[in-house]
Formats: sequence, C-alpha cells, structure tokens
Amino acid sequence: MVKKLHPETLAIRGFKEQTSYNEHNQALFLTSSFTYPDSATAESLFLGEKEGYTYSRTANPTVTTFAKRVALLEGAEAAQATATGMAAIQATFLSFLKAGDHLVVSRSIFGTTVGLVNSLTNFGIEVTYVPLIDLNAWQEAIQPNTKMFFFETPSNPLGEVVDIAALSKIAHEKDILVAVDNSFCSPILQQPIQLDADLSIQSATKLIDGQGRVFGGVVSGSQVLINDVFAHVKTAGQVLSPFNAWVLISGLETIFVRVERQCQSALALAEWLEKHPKVEKVFYPGLKSHPQYDLIQKQQKAGGIVLSFRAKGGKEEAWKLVNNVKLFSTTGNLGDVRSIITHPFTTTHCKVDPKVKIESGITENLIRVSVGLEHIDDLKQDLEETLNLI
Ligand SMILES: *Cc1c(COP(=O)(O)O)cnc(C)c1O
Repeated sequence: MVKKLHPETLAIRGFKEQTSYNEHNQALFLTSSFTYPDSATAESLFLGEKEGYTYSRTANPTVTTFAKRVALLEGAEAAQATATGMAAIQATFLSFLKAGDHLVVSRSIFGTTVGLVNSLTNFGIEVTYVPLIDLNAWQEAIQPNTKMFFFETPSNPLGEVVDIAALSKIAHEKDILVAVDNSFCSPILQQPIQLDADLSIQSATKLIDGQGRVFGGVVSGSQVLINDVFAHVKTAGQVLSPFNAWVLISGLETIFVRVERQCQSALALAEWLEKHPKVEKVFYPGLKSHPQYDLIQKQQKAGGIVLSFRAKGGKEEAWKLVNNVKLFSTTGNLGDVRSIITHPFTTTHCKVDPKVKIESGITENLIRVSVGLEHIDDLKQDLEETLNLI
C-alpha cells in the first residue's frame, strides 16, 4: 500500500516506530540498550531470529525510522544510517573493498572524500581518478580487479553531470558496483538507484537537515548490500545518534517544499547573474546554457540549490564580494535555509594544486552560492549592491 503513495507523503508517513502511548510525532529513543523480557527472547534477538532492539549501536527505533524513510525516497529496498556523510562513504568503501581491489573515482569529488580515498591506498586498495563526464575514461580505467565506481553528480562547484544509467551499464558489464554520493541533489531531485546505481549515499547534514543543525549520513541500496553496510557500521561504531536521527526526520518532513522553493530561487538567481555585466560566467545545472542541459532534464527533477559564477576580475574582486554581502553567510556548509557564499579557491579547494584547480575550472574569481529560503528579491539586491563594488 505504501508503495503507491507519492514521495511527498512517504517523507512524512512512510514509516514510524510507534509505542503504546499513541504519540503523534516519531518518539526520540534516547537509550543505549533495551531490556529482554526473558532469556529465550534474548537468545532469539541475538541470533537475529526475532526482530527487535538490543543495543543502540546495532539499531535504535528513531534511527530506523529515519533510515526507512530515506530508503523509501531513494526507491531502495533498505538503508543504513551513519554518524556523518563521511562515515557513510567510509562504510561504503570498507564494506565492499579489500586489499588487492581497485576503485575508480571521479576527480571532482568533495575534498574530504579525496583524503579518504587516498588513505585507502594504505590498506592495499588501488585507486584511479578519472574526469567525471568522460565515459571512455571510466571504461578505460577498468582493470580485472576493479570492484567499484564512485562519483558525485552534479560536481561541486561547477555542476558537471554524468549519465548515471550509462555509467552503471559500463560498470555492470564487469560486475563493478556503482556508488553515488547524492548529497548535492538529495533523493528529492535525483534517485541514483532508479537509474541502476547500486548504492546512493547522502550527507544528511546538507539538504536533509536543511537548517544546519546536526550531522548525519545514510547509504541506500538493495537489502543484500545494505546487510553488509549494516554489519560494518555496527561493528565499527559509525552509527547515527538517535537525537540527530530525530532532527533529521523532521528535516525529511519539510524537504520537498524547502528544496522546491530553493531550486526555483537558485534558477532565478542563476538566470539573473548570467545577464549581469559584472559576471563572466554562471555554472548551474538548471540553466538552458548548460552544455548538458538535456541529460540534466532527464536525470534530475531540478537544477539543485547550488550555483557558481565567475565574477569579472580575480581573487581581489571575489574576496570583495564575499566580504561585503550582507544576507549571505560566509561558511562552507550548503543546503541550509540560510543562503551561503563561499570562495572555493581559498576554502573548500585550498589544498588542491593551483594548476590542477585552474585546469578544472576552479579559478580565483569563482564564487559558490548555496541558495536558501530568503526572498529572491532580497538575495538579488544584496548581490547587486555587492557586485557594483567591484
Ligand atoms: C558535506 C559532504 C560530504 C560529507 O558529509 P559530512 O556530513 O560533512 O560528513 C560528502 N559529500 C558531499 C558531496 C558533501 O557535500
């Protein structure tokens, strides 16, 4: 019955762990362990013959509600929640890769993920980086020991996109797992598993919380794959805190209206910036001028909440913008209801070799904006006043 409901409804009513008190909202279970009614029940719980809760590092009802609702939104059989987005990515790697295996990764991934991927080589896992949108490069990187493709689409901060279905086809011909970091879109805008990817990963810290409060992560996929992730997460102790899960559930309950409005504002701002005399170029997956517009229309429900643009000038002009905006917060987070402005060259990408940065389009005059829920006219006015200073 649940399967026929719309995602907007599933985000709110898809699953709930109910107690006999008939509470309306999902209860917050702040408890480390659960008592056993008798020894025989304890034995069957521990053997996994009976479903139930024993210890919150293994499972907790509030966390289960969160994970099950995300699975419904991703169109996946199951999901495992984790403490952070990074924990979700690490759990994905360590559940499916071992010494001697080979991982192919997109070059344009989140900076901290690059550090994590590089650390895998300490454990005997081989890594090859490829340009995100070059399907031939992915094909050519395949070796007999290749076990996983890992990428983000759209890329940060330039909004390049790869065809998830086409890349999954290439991978599956060689029994390679496809893992997608879907944090920039959230399952509201893109469902990688519906496009044949095997695993979809979220940093719930971003769009799912949506108000910059708590950390969380989640990996969705088939029951068989998520059983492996579960075994790893409970053993390594990367579990999501019940309190954070409870906050994230309330995030899921408003995500559709938030993200829909934020995408509308992001598109309006991108179109306005494209015509601005102080702006050289705008990067936003929703723009008609985006070279991959047709693929984006097919693959994503909207362009997303993040856009970037090159201001006329260099670092001095870019810093002037960041330092003088009034409504935009200057911070590295994204997906918040508060709009955020970032200078990628000197913050999120500061450790990348300057030559590599410029080659990949992350120039000194590039600004990234995460669009929030303030009124679009106020955001435009703030940028207009600031752009006129340069
Ligand atoms: C933020 C982010 C992460 C890491 O998530 P945390 O919750 O901060 O650990 C991973 N991937 C992408 C694309 C992100 O934006």
